[in-house]
Amino acid sequence: MVEVRCETCGIYISLDSSTVKLKNALHKPTECPSCRNSRVAREIELTEMLFRGEEEETQILPIREARKQHVQALF
Ligand SMILES: [Zn+2]
Repeated sequence: MVEVRCETCGIYISLDSSTVKLKNALHKPTECPSCRNSRVAREIELTEMLFRGEEEETQILPIREARKQHVQALF
């Protein structure tokens, strides 16, 4: 077991050294179980939205707003 820092929230957690090596080899973040569960749940939600053809407002709205401002600046 090795002490590593969660790359998302910063707390220190104990992980099996082979797990840490594998995560590093795969360029995956070392994260605590809570952050991992949140990330996985969010990824599942985004995947389901993609399959349903929906856009996520929090990701799309800032892009739309930036485009609108860019277009307004042109005229
Ligand atoms: Zn964390």
